[in-house]
Amino acid sequence: MSITIKSECEIELMRKAGQILADVHQKLAEEIKPGMSTYEIDKIGEELIRSHGCIPSFLNYQGFPASICISLNDEIVHGIPSKDVIVKDGDIISLDAGVIYKGYHSDAARTVGVGSIPDESKQLIEVTKQSFIEGMKKATAGNYLNDVSTAIGDYASKLGYGVVYDFVGHGIGTSLHQAPEIPNYAKKTRGPLLREGMTLAIEPMINVGVPQVKVCDNGWTAVTADSKRSAHYENTILITKGKPEILSLTEKEKEEGFLDLF
Ligand code: MG
Repeated sequence: MSITIKSECEIELMRKAGQILADVHQKLAEEIKPGMSTYEIDKIGEELIRSHGCIPSFLNYQGFPASICISLNDEIVHGIPSKDVIVKDGDIISLDAGVIYKGYHSDAARTVGVGSIPDESKQLIEVTKQSFIEGMKKATAGNYLNDVSTAIGDYASKLGYGVVYDFVGHGIGTSLHQAPEIPNYAKKTRGPLLREGMTLAIEPMINVGVPQVKVCDNGWTAVTADSKRSAHYENTILITKGKPEILSLTEKEKEEGFLDLF
């Protein structure tokens, strides 16, 4: 499958999808309190998505039963919301969400702390976000995809973290998952040339301990092999001749100066 190049009109729709998703993430993070079930969090997320006239990308995707993937602590991705899973003070919670706006998808994930979290978890969340930023420094037309993958993986692994290699980022547009696959670690080949107009979902998943994962009996939820914590940071981006445009950045992140970091 070749990598699609979006037209200016398609890019406008992807921008709008990204802004909506960023708004969903910002509002959803503010709602999370100790004592809530992950089912309740999913329902709030779904309502936020639908309030913008969008459809949740993940609902029923290959049979996934919810709108938001909610992964707690040692869960890496694809956590299934449940009335039986209650978040508590000190937990970290990875929220992965997608929206469809006028036929175009946006995909983004954030890991947030519930109440007061351990320093080790704060550092994990920071390193995961920073590994994304390191990737952004290389995500420009004329570079190769492996430049981005290498920058992400090398940053976290040099600090002693486990970089998950079983799950990867992806192209995105009129479908949730398009070519290319985007590993979060260096490959031996340079991969495709980055071109203006490509839209990509880049999503490092970083573990405090080993990089290996186990998939739970539900067939979805991936957890760390050593039960240590994991964080996820993802945005949908647009490749340009200069800095990439981060389509799903929240207003809060913009105010905090995120765009000056790469
Ligand atoms: Mg994704």
